[in-house]
Amino acid sequence: MKVLRKRIGQDHSEKYLMELEDGNTIETLYMFDEKRQLTFHNTVCVSSQVGCGMGCRFCATGKQGFTRNLSMKEIVGQVDVCNSTRENARTVPIDAVVFAGMGEPLLNYEQVKAAILVMRSRLGISHFELATVGIVPKIYELIKDFQGTDISIRLNISLHASSDDQRRLIIPMTERYSMYKIIQAATDYAIAFGVKVRIRYMLFRDFNGKAEDIRRLTDLLEGKPMKLIISQYNENNIQGLIPSGRLEVLEFYNTISTAIDSEIFHNFGSDIQGGCGQLKQTMVV
Ligand code: SF4
Repeated sequence: MKVLRKRIGQDHSEKYLMELEDGNTIETLYMFDEKRQLTFHNTVCVSSQVGCGMGCRFCATGKQGFTRNLSMKEIVGQVDVCNSTRENARTVPIDAVVFAGMGEPLLNYEQVKAAILVMRSRLGISHFELATVGIVPKIYELIKDFQGTDISIRLNISLHASSDDQRRLIIPMTERYSMYKIIQAATDYAIAFGVKVRIRYMLFRDFNGKAEDIRRLTDLLEGKPMKLIISQYNENNIQGLIPSGRLEVLEFYNTISTAIDSEIFHNFGSDIQGGCGQLKQTMVV
């Protein structure tokens, strides 16, 4: 794997454009969390596919379509590259890996699982995070494969809407798995591992931040072992989708956090197009 380009963000995030052996390219984000907002010091956000077939409307990766799955070696290779090339020689080793880059990791489950096992045994990493739009049967496979091991996988569900009708407009996979089924699987996951599942909710102006959204989300999540992670939508120049302002995010948080455990998420690397939904196979000129 070859690094074609590296960009460094204001928050010290480093985004790598990497070339695979067949000429395809992927992006990887390395995050140095000075304030420990992510719990860990050094985190790598890896891609699991070249492109993605899920077609989420807000996502740059989704716009380019699906090319192929990454192999276990290509997934682990991204962490090896970050370990060897990161800017300031940090004294703390990479201690967490997040599957939230390009691709839907649960649709490349066997290679993702193999990569987790290799990173645990060879690199000593035991903390993982996985972001999914909600591939319900695979959530149950995660439970079956990792319950009782020394590997912790924090599950993130990309919800971003308060009803199935609303979510279908931005996440076509909702057609297959309803929010009710996804939250049921997430609840089973949380109970199996004794942890909270993180429900990701990006706020789009005039779309999903109204009082009725707060009411529906409260009905869906109240009393469940979940944490709502609220963030601004990362601008991708997609027609009709505008990020909510900081004040709107704060007001939304202030209201919903009275009923549901919530936090506002810092979008790492958004100034270098390394934030959630911003990674893509970039052409090098
Ligand atoms: S948000 Fe995730 S699942 Fe949706 S298109 Fe982007 S990479 Fe794929």
